[in-house]
Amino acid sequence: MSAAEPQPVTCRWCGAPDGEVVLDLGDQPAADHFPAVDDPGPDPVHPLRMWLCAACGLAQLAEDPTTPEEPRGAEPEALVAQARDAVARAHSAGLLPAGGTVTEFGSPHGGTWLELLAAVGLTGAAPGEPADVVVDCFGLMHAADQAAGLAERAAATAPGGTLLLQFHSLAAIVADGQWNALRHGHFAYYATPVLARMLEAIGFEVTHGFLFDLYGGTVLLAARRREVDGPRDIPSVTHLLEREAALGVTDTGGVGTLGKAAQRSAEALREHLVAAREAGRLVLGYAAASRAVPLLNRAQVGPELLPAVADAAPGKRGRRVPGVGVPIIVPDELVARRPDEVVLFVADMLAEMRRRLPDVEAAGGRWVVADPTLAVPAAGPVHEAAGPDGGGGGRPTG
Ligand SMILES: [Zn+2]
Repeated sequence: MSAAEPQPVTCRWCGAPDGEVVLDLGDQPAADHFPAVDDPGPDPVHPLRMWLCAACGLAQLAEDPTTPEEPRGAEPEALVAQARDAVARAHSAGLLPAGGTVTEFGSPHGGTWLELLAAVGLTGAAPGEPADVVVDCFGLMHAADQAAGLAERAAATAPGGTLLLQFHSLAAIVADGQWNALRHGHFAYYATPVLARMLEAIGFEVTHGFLFDLYGGTVLLAARRREVDGPRDIPSVTHLLEREAALGVTDTGGVGTLGKAAQRSAEALREHLVAAREAGRLVLGYAAASRAVPLLNRAQVGPELLPAVADAAPGKRGRRVPGVGVPIIVPDELVARRPDEVVLFVADMLAEMRRRLPDVEAAGGRWVVADPTLAVPAAGPVHEAAGPDGGGGGRPTG
């Protein structure tokens, strides 16, 4: 229990005081702070709650007393592939004028588009100069003050310029029960209709909407000032708005299902690991990702159920998962321990990990996904690389 009563919440976008807590994960360690493996804890915990504004419908972090660390993790191939796809689609839509300038609002998770944009003829805008294209890829959600964050991006956009905003859609979070998307440092969770209204409120019109499979549903919106002419694909926007409205992502009933999803998936993971232990099966984890932290904490999975989780990020070596104390190991060590099963916490990495660590399946192990819903994927294809060389994990595959 927290010692302090929760403070009243006001909306990070519209300032309204009325709203409802739609997901309460209780006290959680910061998902971006991985203590040293010999740090005995206890790790500091903080309330983690999602609040839905009754006035504007923006889902947001109710409070965040943590200091962001967000160590840059290994960039999943799925993220890189999606960036290529997104730039190609924006380019086809005529949104990336050759010879134009670009400013990128980066995300602490990496995933810059600048190289891809340079390849289609955009150059970096001079510091302080408005750009023809402003790109924000998972960045805006890190702004504690959403009104200030969006205003800053609008100011960086030249009068006739295009603002590109990419986000993990709340519709996907709700539809797939991805309650562990809620984390400290991520202040806003956008439904497309809500973000479109936010853009309207600052004088922008959403001209294009693109949907990607990444994280179960990633949306890219293009917007520019209402009075400016240029390419438009309004049906692509209408389609997204209608799709998400049907999923109920702006009302407490729809978003409120995340609480049940949290309970269900945490229980399922715990029961699965308990059964594996009783059967004498060695289960290890992969990806000490931020989203694994609330899942393992909610499910109360410590080293007795999950002896280690592997991660390729150098910044996580010698560290452990906060709250539950599961040590983080390098991918080579995971392979060397010959697990019967590897629980993967980032579903988008499944194909990549099967290719990078073929020895897991070659030795008779299997991959299981917990992101956060537990799923056993069909067995992977036979890998040519899965020879008897025992080369170990994490090797580049070219
Ligand atoms: Zn609001």
